[in-house]
Amino acid sequence: MIQYKCFITGGMETNTYLVWCGASAVVIDPGAKSTALASFISGQGLSVCAVLLTHGHFDHIGGVSAFSCPVYACGAETALLQNPALNLSAYFGLPETITDSIPVQEGDVIDLEPLSFSVLHTPGHTAGSVCYQIGGLLFTGDTLFCGGAGRTDFPTGNSAALHRSLNRLITLNGEWRVLPGHGEETLLSRERAHNPFVC
Ligand SMILES: [Zn+2]
Ligand SMILES: [Zn+2]
Repeated sequence: MIQYKCFITGGMETNTYLVWCGASAVVIDPGAKSTALASFISGQGLSVCAVLLTHGHFDHIGGVSAFSCPVYACGAETALLQNPALNLSAYFGLPETITDSIPVQEGDVIDLEPLSFSVLHTPGHTAGSVCYQIGGLLFTGDTLFCGGAGRTDFPTGNSAALHRSLNRLITLNGEWRVLPGHGEETLLSRERAHNPFVC
């Protein structure tokens, strides 16, 4: 059975998700080092086999160095990951670069037996923003929020692209539990009906 738990990390209150099945775990968007996350992982006897990034902003990558495992991110996000001015970390006094991520793209399946994540490329908030799907869960990063959507005024942001990405997400078949990069979780059916950015 796939389980998940949200840990709020860093000054931007980023949702960092731990997803696990058996003893195998994946961390999505470690925004900052978190003792709560680290002690939960060790307390449950979990082994983190990968870090998945929805995009390269500083508030989603600041805790990556706490993990010694492969890091996956969109190939279109490489510039942000490698440039503290583009990923905004330069402006918060903690310049971050991630130079060894494994590039993923639309349609990829990240197979981390027994966990398997599908990649949706959803540009707009940044050029290399992605969503990850696994077992009825949809991790949307800063693309889709409960009742909102990501801003597009940072480097590589594009409001027309974001609009296309949001419209694509709401046409996904079936029900999905939406787990955004900030704020409350929601359901895709609720966002289809009530989110002003997709109506
Ligand atoms: Zn962001
Ligand atoms: Zn964010």
